[in-house]
Parts: sequence; structure tokens; C-alpha cells
Amino acid sequence: MTIAGAAASADFTKICPLVSRRTHSNEYGDAETRSVQVKQVSFGDEGAVIIAGPCSVESYEQTLELAQAVMDCGGDMLRGGAFKPRTSPHDFQGLGLEGLQILHEVGRQTGLPIVTEVMDPRLVEQVGEYADMLQIGSRNMQNYPLLVEVGRFGKPVLLKRGMAASLCEWLGAAEYIAKEGNFNIVLCERGIKAYPSGEYSRFILDLNVLSALRQETFLPVIVDPSHATGVASMVESASRAAMESGAQGLLIEIASGRGDAEKPKCDAAQAIPPAVLERIAGFVRQREEHTMGAKAYAV
Ligand code: PEP
Ligand code: MN
Repeated sequence: MTIAGAAASADFTKICPLVSRRTHSNEYGDAETRSVQVKQVSFGDEGAVIIAGPCSVESYEQTLELAQAVMDCGGDMLRGGAFKPRTSPHDFQGLGLEGLQILHEVGRQTGLPIVTEVMDPRLVEQVGEYADMLQIGSRNMQNYPLLVEVGRFGKPVLLKRGMAASLCEWLGAAEYIAKEGNFNIVLCERGIKAYPSGEYSRFILDLNVLSALRQETFLPVIVDPSHATGVASMVESASRAAMESGAQGLLIEIASGRGDAEKPKCDAAQAIPPAVLERIAGFVRQREEHTMGAKAYAV
């Protein structure tokens, strides 16, 4: 079985039977999503999940301030990197263990569940001790020993799409996690490398893949408009487009917006200030009320 009209003809029921909607059509029909619970937050249910926070954890004060901004606009979870995958080894690599401890403490204080990236199979237990959800970054989507390890560990996983990954490769990666018995997987589209990448935006946000995912898997899917665009002024419209295309949540990078002195050490060009996050969250919640209202009316 393949996506009607698609040029590629991958057989998802063979490549990834565990996460394929088609092999679970009784359990998860056309519109059903398997929900993934991260503490009080539920992915794939009626409400969209808003995750926001800094690209990287730089200090306790910065993390707490941004977590408060997430709380103030009704966000659901806090993101922040403690181990950063950087193009140059000379760039800031994250605070490591100290970053995890900061995230954990801020999570405890605010009640926001924490998602943070793990890059090394040997560190899954350590990161998992502090985080509520483990992020597999774009660059590691096909790091199979890492996928097996987070699968065995069992905590919820946010599986970002490799920047050049096909749908088949992405779902194959999810299958590695599921094969270890861990079905708590949320997929995250974060932009792909395509012809004009880099000319006016960092990557190309692939909205088509959201409909394809909906057909092929029951796993929830969210969108990261920050890395997908790489440009702060594009994040709001990308967020709106993602929600209209069926995203079940958003992952957004924010910064204080107080100017150069407080510029983030990583991905400064795409960080939006709390005021813009508030606008996006307002739009998402309003849209939710609208669709839930429409459903109630239909019943
Ligand atoms: C991130 O979300 O911190 C990140 C590095 O994103 P990606 O892996 O999608 O580049
Ligand atoms: Mn980033």
C-alpha cells in the first residue's frame, strides 16, 4: 500500500509495520492518533501542544525567565538544549550536565515538563534522569544505536526529521524505537534541505509531509517553525501554516529580545521574543476553540 499518486512506492507496512496506520487500521482508523503522554501533557489529543524555550540553556536566570514566558502565554512544555549539535566544534556546545540540572530545577519550579536533546547512546540514562522527554535531533535521526537506546529506556521521545530524510527513512527511524517496545514517539517536522535552502530561509518547511504522515502513521506530529525557517520574522506565519496543515503542536525557540547584549549563543536569528510567542499561542488556542466548537455543533 502506498500514498495514492506518490512517485515513490515505499511499502510502509513492511518497513515500519509497528508504527504504520495501515497495519493498525482497527485500532487507529483514518483520523485516530495514538496519544503520547508526557506528564500532564498529551500529544495527539484534541488540544495542540505548545513547546517553547531557548535554543540552548545558557544560565538558570535565562531559562527561568523564558520558562515564565512560556507559562504566561499558556505554553505546555519547556525546551532547551544542554548538549548542542554544532556545525563547528569551536562553537558553544551547551552546558552539558549543568544545563540538565538547570532544566530540571526550572521544570520543578514551574511545573512545565522538559524536553531536551540526547546525542550520545551512552548518555541516554543521564539525560533521561533530568528530562521528561528525550529529543533526537535532525542530525541523529538515523543514529540507530541511539534510537535503540532511547527505545529501551522507555521515556517519551521527540523524533525530529533528518534534514534530508525521506518519509520512509523517518518512519523507519521511529520503527527502531517502537521495536524496543517504546511507542511514546512524537514526530517533529523541522524543515528539509531543498533547492532554495539558504537563499531566503535556512531550510524548507515541508507541509506536505503532514498529510502523508497522517495517512501512513498513527503517531502524533508537531512542527518546529524555528529551525525550518531560521528567520524570526517567518516563524509566526510558518506556525499558522503548520496548524492549518494538521500539526498537533509546535516547537518554538524564544529569547528575551532585549538586544545584542543578551543575544543567544546559538540560533539567534530565529529566536522570537515572548510577545510573538504570545500571539502564536493566542492564535493556536483560538483555533482550537473554534474547531472544538464546530465539533460540538456537529454532534
Ligand atoms: C534543536 O531543536 O535544538 C535542534 C538542534 O534542532 P534540529 O535537530 O532540528 O536541527
Ligand atoms: Mn536551535
